[in-house]
Amino acid sequence: MREHFLVCPFDEKLLSRLKNERIAIVTNGFEQVHHICESFNDNGNTLHCLVIHYSGSVVSIPFHENLKNIPMAIFANELGPFKEIMARIHMLRELNTRIFLNSDNKANYTNIHILASLGVDCGIFFGENEIDWSALNDLMTYAIYAKVGHATIEPFMYAVKHYSPDKLTDFGTVYFENRESYLHIDKDENIAHTSKDLKAGKFIATGVEALSQIRENKFYQDAEYAWQEFFLNENPCAYCQAWRICVGKFTETFEKNPGCRQFFIDLMDAADFYRTAESKNKKKEIWQP
Ligand code: SF4
Repeated sequence: MREHFLVCPFDEKLLSRLKNERIAIVTNGFEQVHHICESFNDNGNTLHCLVIHYSGSVVSIPFHENLKNIPMAIFANELGPFKEIMARIHMLRELNTRIFLNSDNKANYTNIHILASLGVDCGIFFGENEIDWSALNDLMTYAIYAKVGHATIEPFMYAVKHYSPDKLTDFGTVYFENRESYLHIDKDENIAHTSKDLKAGKFIATGVEALSQIRENKFYQDAEYAWQEFFLNENPCAYCQAWRICVGKFTETFEKNPGCRQFFIDLMDAADFYRTAESKNKKKEIWQP
């Protein structure tokens, strides 16, 4: 069996052509959520996750009991007033949902911190503006080192959990963008490694029939070594100690905003800390009276 999840828009014709696949459906709102879930009754397909790019604030989402068992990743730009979040907090904690907020909105670094401390699994996604590496580092420090209980914050938790000093760790998985785990497919059955490639027309193949043989596909195989390009050209990532946990994700903005390097070095330290703490797997024992 191929190990990939598929990422695609909601298109009933496309879904009817897919069989025994694990699928993440990308959508813009909540109106169709139940209709999408009902469409998974046929063909042995299973819903991996609903990926919802929501243009409103999180507080304006019509959260309801009947969303409880649906796996959802919600990407939103704003959270909204905490007073209104608190009115929904019990529901939010119970949903099978991770809420991602946009790094372009500075308030979101604090919002994510508070959301996690309230027990809501959440994360940051990277927008178009310069990243505040210092604020991101503070958030990561809280996510990994804080002793007080809180929900997970991504992509930090994924990165430290999967980090290995001997291989590359691609936290793009958190955003459904990792060629080892995900393939993106549009309603015309064009297949690409990432959503960006799909939009840019950089297809690996076309037609759902190609999925079963995708690992033998030349374009698929070529992409496996695309990262080597970084080392063939003059590129700051080629000399970066944090390469194996960042894999050049911020290379285009490095010149203007070079804080990525220190951030990812600190993230590797956090991963070492996490691994050590996990392997000891025992609580500190204080003397007993
Ligand atoms: S941290 Fe910055 S310099 Fe290092 S690999 Fe990532 S983008 Fe390149």
